[in-house]
Amino acid sequence: MPNILLLGERLPRDYAAPLGHALATRGIAARIGTDIAADEADYVILQPDAAPADFTPFTRARAVLSTWMGVETLVTNPTLTQPLARMVEPAMTQGMTEYVIAHVLRHHVGLDQYVHGLKGEWRKTLPPLAHERPVTVLGLGQLGREAARVLSDLGFPVTGWSRTARDLPCLARTFSGQDGLHAALDGAEIVVVLLPLTQATENLLGEAEFALLAPGASIINPARGPIIDDAALLHALDSGHTGHATLDVFREEPLPPSHPFWHHPRVTVTPHIAAETRPESAAVVLADNIAGMERGEPLRDRVDTVAGY
Ligand code: NAP
Repeated sequence: MPNILLLGERLPRDYAAPLGHALATRGIAARIGTDIAADEADYVILQPDAAPADFTPFTRARAVLSTWMGVETLVTNPTLTQPLARMVEPAMTQGMTEYVIAHVLRHHVGLDQYVHGLKGEWRKTLPPLAHERPVTVLGLGQLGREAARVLSDLGFPVTGWSRTARDLPCLARTFSGQDGLHAALDGAEIVVVLLPLTQATENLLGEAEFALLAPGASIINPARGPIIDDAALLHALDSGHTGHATLDVFREEPLPPSHPFWHHPRVTVTPHIAAETRPESAAVVLADNIAGMERGEPLRDRVDTVAGY
């Protein structure tokens, strides 16, 4: 009977019962709880914000499984030598796709002018159609691929960018590697950031990158705050070259009340809500992964700790 240690304030309440049930339906009786000694845990399920500083006491752990997709705070911990899995589940991907599509269409259709009100002026401004609006998606992983696919289905010419070359026939163009970044951004009218935060992506978007975008371009970042150089973004927004930034993630969360993003007329702040982990479906993913390991299969959704994601 495997011992499964839960680390994180909400995990016992949200995960213990659905995880126990999902494991039982896979023929596995497990001891699941918060009171399992570190050296007795076979699996550790954790929220990254509740991770221990030192993983060396988990001598028996066959895997550490994160309930979040982004694991940048875990991969940088040198004591975490156990195999690490991140959360990959369809409900999160669906949530992120809906967030991205909503914000792309807002900018594409020019909804703000009507939401804020035409103030009695019968003014008609026709937006271009989707096929005339180049969109760039940075990151073609679980989230970026699906967002890019749906945007392409809507008719947008989508350019994608990834670390290794990706052949995605539904996209208009793909670029890869550091050399491909500027080509991917050149002339983009809407940019969607769906990259992980790693050493290579921190401050990736700065002055030179914003300058490449089409005048008035919109940026949507539901990935991680430090991927964007905040000062460069504010400068691009103040100058008007960048038309709008929709930001779901920040260097410091919650975003401090004094931060200029809160009140900037060209910034929309959403409080890290783009894609939440949903315990009912996430518990099934965790159970499948643990059941697979108990059968001798390799850990799924394993993080490449060298690449950092
Ligand atoms: P993923 O499956 O790991 O995909 C990452 C993509 O980024 C891959 O296409 C990868 O390239 C590319 N990439 C990584 N490093 C790169 C580099 N240096 N240069 C160019 N491309 C690079 O990640 P995901 O599941 O789509 O998630 C992306 C991020 O979204 C997560 O890391 C997390 O931080 C964030 N997130 C946010 C929320 C929210 O609520 N706001 C929710 C979930 C996730 P390859 O294809 O070549 O590997």
